Amino acid sequence: MSTVHVVPVGDLIAHDSSGGQPCVCGPTTKPVKAEDGSMGWMVVHHSLDGRELREPRGRSAR
Ligand SMILES: [Zn+2]
Repeated sequence: MSTVHVVPVGDLIAHDSSGGQPCVCGPTTKPVKAEDGSMGWMVVHHSLDGRELREPRGRSAR
């Protein structure tokens, strides 16, 4: 059983990927199947700066 953390790089907060306790961002954990057939967990962390919702360094061209 392995756990892979997907953490946004350079996020505003420090993500806890040690697995000891849940991260403050409320990551989504989902089972994944490895190439060798074993099962593991993928912990997808969420960036708190909302970069998925905005364009990086977006400037309105107005
Ligand atoms: Zn996190």
